[in-house]
Amino acid sequence: MYEGAVQDLIDELGRLPGVGPKSAQRIAFHLLAADAADVRRLADALTEVKARVQFCETCGNVAESEKCRICADPRRADDVICVVEEPKDVVAIERTREFRGRYHVLGGAINPIENVGPDDLRISQLMTRLADGTVTEVILATDPNIEGEATATYLSRLIAPMGVTVSRLASGLPVGGDLEYADEVTLGRAFEGRRVVGG
Ligand SMILES: [Zn+2]
Repeated sequence: MYEGAVQDLIDELGRLPGVGPKSAQRIAFHLLAADAADVRRLADALTEVKARVQFCETCGNVAESEKCRICADPRRADDVICVVEEPKDVVAIERTREFRGRYHVLGGAINPIENVGPDDLRISQLMTRLADGTVTEVILATDPNIEGEATATYLSRLIAPMGVTVSRLASGLPVGGDLEYADEVTLGRAFEGRRVVGG
């Protein structure tokens, strides 16, 4: 529709999650009208995040070295792991201050429509972490939607036979949404009221 660089920018923005063609166009023209310094800061932030941020080799959370700050923290409890879909869910749960254990980030949820199966998630890495018997409880904090529930069911069937207590966050979270949409109090309450689903 537009020429050269403008269309390239619209195309790239349109590839981002949740950005439709109209939004992509609006953002592109916003950037065109913005100060060069502001646009430079955005470009630098994009470059920096790819250069400096990696995924924790233990839990899959975002990290600025091989281990994230939670895995590197000796004060966290080693006997309980909270399983979440994305790094943003770690942030949401940390905000509640209800949890002092470790995390495991799956990198998504089982979703047959989008062709995401168990092998596409960091499930084998989770099994490896459970193998030495240190972990006695796994809290499944996947999103309260169909994909999150399917993933939790799959994991509880896999983990419970290992003699590990498997629990799921209490109901009361906004159904169908993301974990991150729950406010701190609701999420904290769901954490406290978690129920054992296996083990
Ligand atoms: Zn980590």
